[in-house]
Amino acid sequence: MAEPQMTVTIVTPDGTSYDNEQASMFVAKTTNGEIGILPNHVPLIAALEIDEVRVKSGQDGEDEIAVNGGFVEFSNNVATIVADSAEQQSDIDVTRAENARTRAQQAIDHAHQEHDANELRRAEVALRRAINRINVASHNQNR
Ligand code: ATP
Repeated sequence: MAEPQMTVTIVTPDGTSYDNEQASMFVAKTTNGEIGILPNHVPLIAALEIDEVRVKSGQDGEDEIAVNGGFVEFSNNVATIVADSAEQQSDIDVTRAENARTRAQQAIDHAHQEHDANELRRAEVALRRAINRINVASHNQNR
């Protein structure tokens, strides 16, 4: 008998970056910890951290997506993630993310010097985005 399936869609202001893909499981980091969702899971809505989302399809296939916060909603075997930005592993420009990491680290140093709490908060979030992209891009695709 065929395994039960669900679909996963990720939408961002730039459009749909992951479109209605069939999945047997997905794993995401919510503000309350990591969740693993299988088909027929009870409905849920949760806020996401800046972290990776892993979508498993079939036996071996797995997509890794760097997701920049947002929310996940799951019901009737449809998962929808709404985030400020999301990039699939193969779409991540690592050099750009490394440059963004360097800029964020410099901004953090500057914010400390100036005692600027707003700049510090913004720079820390930018740093998390950059590190998340670097981490997702560096994962072995077949792990
Ligand atoms: P940068 O300073 O490099 O623009 P950022 O964290 O400020 O990084 P965002 O505002 O989160 O960038 O994203 C703006 C757009 O650029 C989004 O569409 C996002 O998917 C894309 N993007 C950002 N960084 C990368 C990257 N390293 N590789 C691929 N796409 C990226």
